[in-house]
Amino acid sequence: MNAAVPQATLQLPTAKLLIEGKFVDSHTHEWGNVVNPATQEVIGRVPYATVDEIDAAIGSAQRAFQTWRHTSIGTRLRIMLKFQDLVRRNLERIARTLTAEQGKTLPDAQGDIFRGLEVVEHACSIGTLQQGEFSENVAGGVDTYTLRQPIGVCAGITPFNFPGMIPLWMFPMAIVCGNTFVLKPSEQDPLSTMELVELAMEAGLPAGVLNVVHGGKTAVDMLCTHPDVKAISFVGSTHVGTHVYNLGSKHGKRVQSMMGAKNHAVVLPDANREQTINALVGAGFGAAGQRCMATSVVVLVGQSREWLPDLVEKAKLLRVSAGHEAGTDVGPVISKTAHARITGLIEEGVQAGATLLLDGRGVKVPGYEKGNFIGPTIFSGVNTDMSIYTQEIFGPVVVVLEVDSLDEAIALINRNPMGNGVGLFTQSGAAARKFQSEIDVGQVGINISIPVPVPYFSFTGSRGSKLGDLGPYGKQVVQFYTQTKTVTARWFDDATVSDGVNTTISLK
Ligand code: NAD
Repeated sequence: MNAAVPQATLQLPTAKLLIEGKFVDSHTHEWGNVVNPATQEVIGRVPYATVDEIDAAIGSAQRAFQTWRHTSIGTRLRIMLKFQDLVRRNLERIARTLTAEQGKTLPDAQGDIFRGLEVVEHACSIGTLQQGEFSENVAGGVDTYTLRQPIGVCAGITPFNFPGMIPLWMFPMAIVCGNTFVLKPSEQDPLSTMELVELAMEAGLPAGVLNVVHGGKTAVDMLCTHPDVKAISFVGSTHVGTHVYNLGSKHGKRVQSMMGAKNHAVVLPDANREQTINALVGAGFGAAGQRCMATSVVVLVGQSREWLPDLVEKAKLLRVSAGHEAGTDVGPVISKTAHARITGLIEEGVQAGATLLLDGRGVKVPGYEKGNFIGPTIFSGVNTDMSIYTQEIFGPVVVVLEVDSLDEAIALINRNPMGNGVGLFTQSGAAARKFQSEIDVGQVGINISIPVPVPYFSFTGSRGSKLGDLGPYGKQVVQFYTQTKTVTARWFDDATVSDGVNTTISLK
């Protein structure tokens, strides 16, 4: 955050707040810069909203809830239908903003928005998703049924790595269930998120149904403690996610917290060699390793050890450059701070005695000398005590471990505290079935490197990667964003014979 704003930056676009249906400039004195990670050019400014502004956003959502909760399902889903159409039409424009502020390649930025768009499409099925249950005649003339009702003001706090997809995991499903929403995007790349928010308003959301505040810890802590906020969806690092979960829970809110990862991919010697190497390189180095589902640990079983040189050679072919350049495979990492953290961890790996087979430090990209670039980096000879194994590096770094059997690989992964994603590469159905049954990780890919479920399932990371029972999107999030009311009802007509006073608890 930079308190003093240089004169030149005053001309830059600013991320607006959205309160009571209006996009407004913050009155704060605290501003941050949105920086293009490939060039260091400051492309926008982001306010750290004041306490009064955050309070106004929550108040706006609270007032809007009183009417929005009663809006018909048809009205809500038709806004989502319009929204999905607007996102589709504007996808390429927003992807350019996303690449400029986040660094990922243009095709990957389009994928970022597209995976969010799929959730908006699914939100259009709310007519069936939010249905309750009905049992006729649970006792003589008595019916029991459930209503899935919205819970009130919900808040979402999102990370830098998916400024398209992750906000779209949150507010469309919350809102289509009849809730109102306050979004706090990542302060590192809020501009593409705001372009999506503008489209949501254009689609017809009434004032106050969706609100946006910007900022960091102060804004997040206020959302977690404000009495009018009923539920918090968080996606980000483990240490912040744990803080949000504990603070929100202490203040009586529902919280779902999707956090950090260390995703392993196990390679059996019977796997398709070329397909496997391609998948590992794509999942390890795509988005410069800044995906919560990136493959950051490769576990070579038995003779698949011999494939290590193939992995290195394939990784060397990747082109490191600015995300908007055609043919780029690996863009820059988000910030100078992230760059320093990642290269620091690489150095720790070297000092700990791991073998640096491919060193992406010091990569030079002509024309982008100031960019935060790190090339694909591969370590072998890694053990489970090294910080390159115990820490989430969140950069283009893959560590390779070698074991002798599938059982050993499963035991190794189950000892790791994280449980976001895991992959197995094999041609054996029996091995795959054993693996999916015994592995203690919430999302499993069989010959699939990044097993992120489509929106009609739910995102089901587990153990250290998630706090709270219910994950984003799919049926789970409808449960998260609604509360069940159970009605037991009997109707009398004039001919009903009175059955007298009943002082027991049984229904007849
Ligand atoms: P982050 O935790 O630094 O930031 C996430 C959000 O928390 C941002 O909106 C930020 O403003 C806010 N925040 C930052 N510091 C805070 C503090 N001290 N108190 C309160 N709020 C604070 O995460 P990031 O660096 O933006 O994102 C990368 C992380 O997100 C990685 O760990 C990655 O694995 C994780 N992630 C997880 C998933 C998942 O589904 N499990 C998905 C995407 C990213």
